[in-house]
Amino acid sequence: MDDCIFCQIVDGDIPARVVYEDEDVLAFLDANPIAPGHTLVIPKDHYETLDEVPPEPGEMMFAAIHYLTPIVEDAVDADGSNIGFNNGAAAGQEVPHVHGHIVPRFEDDGGSPIHAVAGSPPDLADAELDDLAADIADAAGDHTPS
Ligand code: 5GP
Ligand code: ZN
Repeated sequence: MDDCIFCQIVDGDIPARVVYEDEDVLAFLDANPIAPGHTLVIPKDHYETLDEVPPEPGEMMFAAIHYLTPIVEDAVDADGSNIGFNNGAAAGQEVPHVHGHIVPRFEDDGGSPIHAVAGSPPDLADAELDDLAADIADAAGDHTPS
């Protein structure tokens, strides 16, 4: 993807403050951090959204997020962190190369929990929640990550 800014970072064509790299994954500081240590974790190959990421690079990306989160927190002496994906334009994704955000958080930093990202909460009856849970469970099956 020649015009993808994150592919250009992977290729070394534009600079980034890289904090971690392996065969499948690159992590670097966000250029416009919303907290000190705000880090982006991407698969090196170009996929736009999570549903496009094949299992293996997906597992490597989530493993890197799991590995890096406490390291990033320690580096900035954070009290916690939010981990999130803006997955798709409707969810606020601006760079169309899938990326996880590690956002360190601090006591009294004035921020919000992840519950603040969506619009008005839906008013769902118990029966609707039961149906929804059954639908998702049916679709999910008994998949176990390799
Ligand atoms: P999104 O809304 O797509 O989840 O977030 C994209 C993130 O990428 C933003 O937080 C933005 O600051 C960051 N970003 C955009 N362009 C660059 C860049 O060229 N370098 C780096 N390091 N971060 C970028
Ligand atoms: Zn890309």
